[in-house]
This record gives sequence, structure tokens and C-alpha cells, in this order.
Amino acid sequence: MNTNSSNIMALAPNTSNKRETVCIFGTGDFGRALGHKMIQCGYPVVYGSRSTQISNLIPKDAEVLSHAEAAQKAAIIIVAIQRQHYNFLMPLAEILRGKVVVDISNNLKLNQYPESNAEYLAQLLPGAKVVKAFNTVSAWALQSGALDASRQVFVCGDDTEAKQMVMNIVRALGLTPLDQGSLLAAQGIENYPLQLFPMWKFPIFLSLGLTVFFFFYCLALDVIYTYIYEKNNFSFFIAITIPNRICPVMALILLALVYLPGVLAAIIQLYRGTKYRRFPDWLDKWMLCRKQLGLIALAFASLHAVFTLASPLRAFVRWRTSKGIISQALNNITEPLDNTSAWLSDSYLALGIIGFFFFVLVGITSLPSVSNSVNWREFRFVQSKLGYLTLILCTAHTLVYGGNWFLNPSAYRWYLPNIYMLSLVVPCIVLVAKFVLVFPCVDKPLTQIRQGWERNPKYSE
Ligand code: NAP
Repeated sequence: MNTNSSNIMALAPNTSNKRETVCIFGTGDFGRALGHKMIQCGYPVVYGSRSTQISNLIPKDAEVLSHAEAAQKAAIIIVAIQRQHYNFLMPLAEILRGKVVVDISNNLKLNQYPESNAEYLAQLLPGAKVVKAFNTVSAWALQSGALDASRQVFVCGDDTEAKQMVMNIVRALGLTPLDQGSLLAAQGIENYPLQLFPMWKFPIFLSLGLTVFFFFYCLALDVIYTYIYEKNNFSFFIAITIPNRICPVMALILLALVYLPGVLAAIIQLYRGTKYRRFPDWLDKWMLCRKQLGLIALAFASLHAVFTLASPLRAFVRWRTSKGIISQALNNITEPLDNTSAWLSDSYLALGIIGFFFFVLVGITSLPSVSNSVNWREFRFVQSKLGYLTLILCTAHTLVYGGNWFLNPSAYRWYLPNIYMLSLVVPCIVLVAKFVLVFPCVDKPLTQIRQGWERNPKYSE
């Protein structure tokens, strides 16, 4: 009986679906694009403009009135006008009293004004309920429907009801509102579209710097040295051999750099005997970009896998293999299988393959769509335990590959260590330090500190 009645309710026309009229001040690019989208989603739109003449560009179902007339027709007014023109709103303060006024403006520079545009608007219109929204969506994205990259709309405001009304509109437009709290958050929201990959800057510059360094290092040892001392022209190494040396080295170093700040943080906490003192700024920043470092490391590891798979196709590799076979045939000898080197080569390949598998797993889990579907403990398990396992496997892969070769004096051209030896320095430091940190005599006080215990409490009970 109950089910039937609820079905009838579901089928009955829902009169509350009728959308409220929305007023948009400004018939510029953003005002038009937003108005167009709103009309598509069933909102009656009225424009407030300096000129009430209808142009072809304005959505055809919208009305265009003077600012005062348009504002009287709606409870929500979206101000699609640059901040420097906000003065024109002052005479409208009485009409806008009690109404929801949405600030969508952006600036040209970070922290351009002492207060955010939304706070400035709230000062100009003390009776209005000012909400910040929509500034992270572009007019182009609204018009073309390509909203994939900018579906999130940050919303903030001091009036909860006003914020809810704006968030309902955001949802109705097929976007995702993210409540950022009070109007104090507006400055951050206005700075957001001006930032250019803020978390990627350090990882990208570091990777570029290290890549350039290792490129010249390999060029000197593998191409220039062999040309001078062995009269071999191996300049073609620049295409595959050198990149395939740099990629695994970069992957391993960057992966170790993901875990190094955690180790340093633990050492600092142990030394200070408290977790209630801030880490140095550089360490804070480093910790915040660990995910980006890890993803770049994964990109290098993937390139290494592709380069390695392509290796048998190379003329140089085919020449070297056939040279070996021909020399055996000419000397009428069949070299017996060296079991030790067979073991070593199979082991280093297996370690590399399994290491790469875990690397991909850890990388995938750091993507928001995946990390949102696991709980905090699962996320920590993958990022920390599986991450360390990946680091151990990849370090072992390099160690087994280098093996005796690292100890061979001929590996030191111009007295410089091989690039693979250099790549092991940071991972080995991280692994040894982590190994020490998991000892119960170190781990116990560290766990206590992380639970709030202090060696010399500042505020005694
Ligand atoms: P726009 O194309 O230059 O349009 C601004 C509109 O403001 C004009 O069309 C005009 O409308 C009105 N206006 C100009 N001078 C005025 C004055 N002295 N007094 C009153 N009204 C004036 O700019 P827009 O690209 O639409 O950007 C508008 C706002 O949206 C800006 O604050 C911008 O930061 C923000 N926004 C834009 C985008 C985007 O992709 N474009 C994205 C996010 C946020 P009338 O002629 O109808 O009066």
C-alpha cells in the first residue's frame, strides 16, 4: 500500500521543480555563458546591464533590464563584472538588501588587493548576503560544455542559507560545489585559478635539473670517454642507451626522495622529543609534493620499461649478439652456460618486473578517484608499506644489475663512479635510516611522540 502511494508521488508532476529567476549583472563573456547554461537548465534569467538593447549574443530567452529593475526580479544576483567597476553597485545597496549577491570575479595577480573581491563587495553592500562562487569555471568551459577539467566550484560565504541556495544552482548546472566555509576563504579561492601547478614546480625543476646532470654525466663517460680512449664512436647512445640509463636512475632517486622527508621528519621529532613544533619550511613543502615526485618517478620507470622492451630491436644489440656467436663459431668453441650470471640476470629482471608492478600499484592508489575509495588505513598501507617494498625491490634490482661490475676498476672512467652507483646513494640512505627507525627501541618513543607525549612538556599539568 505504502509502496503504491510513494510511486504515485514519484510520478506526480513536481511543482517545486520550477526554478527561481536568477539575475546576472553584466552581459560580458562570463555573464552570457553563465546565463546560457542557466537557461538550458531551466532557470529564468534576467540581465542587469548598462544598456538594455538586446544583442544577438545574449541568450534569446533572457530579459535585459537596467540593474535596478533586474535586481528587483530575483532573490539571487550574480555579479559578472570586474571588481574595479563595483562602485556602480553602491546606489543599489537598498535594492540588494537581504538578497544573495554572488561574486564570481578573479584577479590578475595573486593577493592583488588587501582584501578579497568578495569581502570588498560585502563592504560595499552591508545588507546583502555575499557568496563567492563560480570563479574557477571559465566562460569557455560553460559555453562549450567541456567541464571535465573544471567541474569543481568552490563556494564560501557567511550566510549558510545563501550558500545553500548558490550550491543548489551549482548542482543544477551539473557542477560540483565544494563548501569552503566563510567569506574568509574567498582570498584563497580567488588565488586558486592564478596558480600554475603549484605542487608540481619543485618536482619538475628537480627532475629537470637531475636529468640534465645525468645526461652530461653519461655523455662524458659513455660517449666522450670511449671516443677519446677507445676510438669508438658511440654517439648514437644519445638516442636510447643514455635515456635508458637516466630513466631508471631518476625513477629510483625520485622514489627515494618520496620517502626521505618522512624519515627526516621522524629523526627531527625524535631529536626534539615532541611533535608540537613545526618542521622547517623546506621540509613541509617537500612533504606536500611527495605525490608529484612519486608520479614523476613512475613516469621515468614506465619509460625505462618501454626502452628496455625495445632494446632487442636495436641494430647495435643485434650486432653485438651476432658478433658473440660468430666469434664462438670462428674459434670453434661453445661457451658453457654460466649459471651464476643466468641467476643474476633472471633475478634482476624479476626484481625489476615485480618492483615496477608495485610502483604502478602505489601510483594508481595516489589518484583521487582511487584514493577516495579506500579508507585511511588502506591508503597508508599502500603508500607506506607497499611504497617501501617498491623502493626495496627497485634498489635490489639496481644492486643485482650492478653486482660485481660496481667493484670492477674499469667501471671508474675518469675516476668517476658509474651512474648506477650514484643512483643508489639516496635509496640506501633512506632504507638504512628506515631500518633503524623500525627497531623497537627507536620506534616506541617515536610512536609515543606521535601520540602526543613530550620529553620536556612546555605546559605541565
Ligand atoms: P567582460 O567580458 O569584460 O564583461 C564584463 C561586463 O561588465 C561588461 O560586459 C559590462 O556589462 C560590465 N561592465 C563593464 N564596465 C562596467 C562599469 N563601469 N560599470 C558597470 N558594469 C560594467 O568580462 P568577463 O570575462 O565576462 O568577466 C566578468 C567577471 O567574471 C570578471 O570579474 C571575471 O574575473 C569573472 N570571471 C570570468 C571568467 C571568464 O572565463 N571570462 C571566468 C571566471 C570568472 P554590460 O555592458 O552589460 O553593463
